[in-house]
Amino acid sequence: TKWVYTFGNGQAEGRARDKEILGGKGANLAEMCSLGLPVPPGLTIISEACSTYYKNGRKIDRALKEQVLAGIAGIEEITGRRFGAGKQPLLLSVRSGARVSMPGMMDTVLNLGLNDETVQALGHDAGDARFAWDSYRRFIQMYADVVMGLGNDLFEEILEDEKGRLGHEFDTELNASEWQHVVSLYKALIEEELDEAFPQDPAVQLWGAVGAVFSSWMSARAVTYRHLHNIPEAWGTAVNIQAMVFGNLGNASATGVAFTRNPSTGQKLLYGEFLVNAQGEDVVAGIRTPQSITEEGRIASGSEKPSMEKLMPEAFAEFGRICDRLEAHYRDMQDIEFTIERGKLWMLQTRSGKRSTRAAMKIAVDMVDEGVITEEEAVLRIEPSTLDQLLHPTIDPRVTRQVIGSGLPASPGAATGEIVFTAEEAVEAESEGRKVILLRVETSPEDIHGMHAAEGILTTRGGMTSHAAVVARGMGIPCVVGAGTMRIDARNERLIGVGVTLKKGDVITIDGSAGQVLKGEVPMIQPELSGDFGRIMGWADRARRMTVRTNADTPADARAARSFGAEGIGLCRTEHMFFEGERIHVMREMILAEDEKGRRGALDKLLPMQRGDFTSLFTVMHGLPVTIRLLDPPLHEFLPKSDEEIAEVAYAMGMEPSALRQRVDALHEFNPMLGHRGCRLAISYPEIVEMQARAIFEAAVAAAQETGAAVVPEIMVPLVGLRSELDYVKAKIDAVALDVMSEARMRIDYLVGTMIELPRAALRAHVIAEAAEFFSFGTNDLTQTTFGISRDDASAFIPTYQRKGIIEHDPFISLDFDGVGELIRIAAERGRRTRNDMKLGICGEHGGDPASIHFCETIGLDYVSCSPFRVPIARLAAAQAVI
Ligand code: PEP
Ligand code: MG
Repeated sequence: TKWVYTFGNGQAEGRARDKEILGGKGANLAEMCSLGLPVPPGLTIISEACSTYYKNGRKIDRALKEQVLAGIAGIEEITGRRFGAGKQPLLLSVRSGARVSMPGMMDTVLNLGLNDETVQALGHDAGDARFAWDSYRRFIQMYADVVMGLGNDLFEEILEDEKGRLGHEFDTELNASEWQHVVSLYKALIEEELDEAFPQDPAVQLWGAVGAVFSSWMSARAVTYRHLHNIPEAWGTAVNIQAMVFGNLGNASATGVAFTRNPSTGQKLLYGEFLVNAQGEDVVAGIRTPQSITEEGRIASGSEKPSMEKLMPEAFAEFGRICDRLEAHYRDMQDIEFTIERGKLWMLQTRSGKRSTRAAMKIAVDMVDEGVITEEEAVLRIEPSTLDQLLHPTIDPRVTRQVIGSGLPASPGAATGEIVFTAEEAVEAESEGRKVILLRVETSPEDIHGMHAAEGILTTRGGMTSHAAVVARGMGIPCVVGAGTMRIDARNERLIGVGVTLKKGDVITIDGSAGQVLKGEVPMIQPELSGDFGRIMGWADRARRMTVRTNADTPADARAARSFGAEGIGLCRTEHMFFEGERIHVMREMILAEDEKGRRGALDKLLPMQRGDFTSLFTVMHGLPVTIRLLDPPLHEFLPKSDEEIAEVAYAMGMEPSALRQRVDALHEFNPMLGHRGCRLAISYPEIVEMQARAIFEAAVAAAQETGAAVVPEIMVPLVGLRSELDYVKAKIDAVALDVMSEARMRIDYLVGTMIELPRAALRAHVIAEAAEFFSFGTNDLTQTTFGISRDDASAFIPTYQRKGIIEHDPFISLDFDGVGELIRIAAERGRRTRNDMKLGICGEHGGDPASIHFCETIGLDYVSCSPFRVPIARLAAAQAVI
């Protein structure tokens, strides 16, 4: 096996594209070297060697050692120095480098090869004994920490004591003999703590360091990081061994990091920091305050310390040229590490720089304008899920967060307000102009008005598809759900969090993007949909095949969604309208009616309200397709639950509380999600369907007259499992349609379709398609019914499943391609076999999830439908799926 790839002197065995073998750092070092840039010569041990190291019981293979030594001989030849020996000793850096960067997760050893002899030689050769002893003590400290496992603290203590004793404030004030003394103290510390001497043999040091870098792949923090970022363990890390160059060789030496453009604004301006007379670790450690690279940066930061541009103009000029060259070569903003050794510039690393969403937008658009990338490439450069950051206020990244609780990030954005415990209080506060966060154990449809009135919503129970989560996302209100570390004591109006107890009226901030609850008010950054956003979205729209609709229940939602670019409504959940204002009373009257006659009486009152809703919805959508779903939830969701609520409602309805209680109990279900809901309600109470159908058709007539645009309502029947269910409901709808058309003397085109939410419906799609004119995949229920996992209770164990590696993703957030996806594939294929022009869409929460949208593209769905604030995400993801 070829374990080692060398680079140096303008030649390299590897290339940038070899990241999988050489890791990101190694591949880019090879590439920079081939470009003729000044890179210290070195070698990369391939990442596969890391797995071999573990297979061999954490031992370094003979063959690998031989190849490394041969590579080091090459470095000796190029530099004219000898590793760990002679008058001009060669020192090495040993650094990790995985396929993707894992910042700060793994280990590095610098100045390797120093010992009691070479430190003298280095001092003579450099003409600077102080530098040599400083390097030696850095090496001992780093090696003891990384390889010998002694930690840093004891060394820092010694150094602090020495500085105190000598009356120095800064490290830079120690002279050669003072550093020499620190070295002797460090060595004594190691012997005392570990009963072994600091290794003097450079070969021992080398293999110790290589082994430590491999071992750091399995360190606890690296393992956690990989879990969080879905990085496979099998990748392993490569190891880069390079000739040291020194940024701590006096005042003409320096080390620093830079971005070729500003990573937070995207402005095309070199942006970075450096430290004079320092090694890389000093910049990261934040012990000294770094200086700006450019004059402009220095002025902007208000710093007194001179910029690199002023201080080292030649090195700065060369650095600027190299940055331009690297950016043009990689066609992306670069994050660069460099060192200047006595005026000579050396490049130590380059990679694509991490950036804020705003910066990503600006950089992509600028690069299109500069002719560097195509519009399609620009579309691919934006991570769709990050668009959330642009559409909502977010917490200023500079603030320190005082987290008092955490839960699931159910609806993005941040909000601040006084805490209230009931929907009524939220509504009252809003009318008084106060901003509130609504706290509930979990929300129910009865809380809708309070949710509307609140700035943000926090629940202590429930998952990503719980009522609170779905509704908040739909409204674009920040929401954290399932904050199990917090407790709501509603009786005493208290919220008990980590280390604090808050009472009604106290102010909190929730971060719905991070799932955090913070104490007090926190500075925010307001959203701004700049021109860059619009241009990228325009390019995305040109590229995509699928259309993007929205899940909207109200004209306000629909209006918001259109402003985000929605091309229709894929799901209007009619039941949400029944909670608005006074309607809940009429709805209850209908549910509590003794017989059909009583129900029809109440339905007659609901009809004009529904018609009005649909008319406004059709008017806002102005001829775009609108899918309206018939009533879906079990009826008891509309009824009061607690004794207090029952007493209140009974009073309002002129009923005996005990009679109401009896009715509520009669409607109780053990498993409501699998109970009397969906089309089952329509079959039990056809008069409800008739009312809804009439409202829809009459609204279509009214809206067509108002806007002049033809309205083609799409009526959707929920929770169908049998074709005969759909036949029954469709017959009712068709009959009403005929009535309304003859009354209005006008033809109305409409479609009747069904949701596919049950495995049986998916399997029997070819038969159901004989009656259904379209399918919309209700993947919330389909996931629930395929897995047999309650969507409302999943949060109790899904996180455990993820932590234990049983499943990778929450299937209620990102579609389970293998199981639920297979059912969708089957249904799409079978449905189209019967009706080849059948329109297929998805309206579960997955319709706004980029990975799921990709899947929808691969199986050829016509559209995805998602909550208004996710519409831009879906537009972008749908485009990326075809590019
Ligand atoms: C679904 O089940 O995916 C769906 C869209 O319907 P709801 O979430 O209202 O049950
Ligand atoms: Mg459903």
